[in-house]
Amino acid sequence: MKCAEVRKFVRLYLDSELDAKHSFEVEQHLESCVECAGLFEAEKKFDVRLGRFLRRGHATRALWENIEVQIAPVRRGKLRALWPIALAASVVIAAGAVFLTKSRGLDLANAVEECHSAYVHQLTAPEFKGPVPDKIAQQFGGQLDTAAFAYLPSQTTFSSSGARLCHVEGVPVALILGHCGETPVSMIVFKKSEIDRFPETKRKLESGDPIACSHSGRYQFAARFVDDHVVCVVGDRPRPALEDLLRTVRRADG
Ligand SMILES: [Zn+2]
Repeated sequence: MKCAEVRKFVRLYLDSELDAKHSFEVEQHLESCVECAGLFEAEKKFDVRLGRFLRRGHATRALWENIEVQIAPVRRGKLRALWPIALAASVVIAAGAVFLTKSRGLDLANAVEECHSAYVHQLTAPEFKGPVPDKIAQQFGGQLDTAAFAYLPSQTTFSSSGARLCHVEGVPVALILGHCGETPVSMIVFKKSEIDRFPETKRKLESGDPIACSHSGRYQFAARFVDDHVVCVVGDRPRPALEDLLRTVRRADG
């Protein structure tokens, strides 16, 4: 079996959906080809990471679990169709692992990275445009911070594709998904009262820095207080561009 063929079968092999003959051939190839074995390991690690990410999504309050199930079914089939992208991502993750241990980003930057990463790799998508639909708001019995979804940059370089509910370290957040040019950029908004969960970021913002910057993996990150909310922007964009974007964020309905 040639490298290209083995790589085509990696996903099926990991899902135990490959027949015995092909499985044997893949195994044989992996024993002799360092490059494919490396890719295979990276893909396996990505599965673990993804599993952790998805489980975390279901580990929060029953309410969130309920909402997640209803509005965010991440279909296995979709994941499988996307495996070449996932594989590319896992290579980046593996390559970045050494780098990350040397230079860790700010706590909040690290926490939101997975939200953004899931968006970039099309594992998550907007659920609605404009204000939170009543149907969703009602499920929270008035507890949902609908104001968080009203924040938008006035800068025209950002185009929003819509928003969805998300949670970061158990904090419910508004996740606004968009692009700057071709680059996916996420905006994450949550109540200022939740900043205690991210002490490093809190310290930085309360020490007088109007904007807290950091990076997590390949993504740049910038956060600031806007009214009674914390607004973060994340993306593979130059830091000054993200800061400029963040400065223009206003509450659209206020
Ligand atoms: Zn090979």
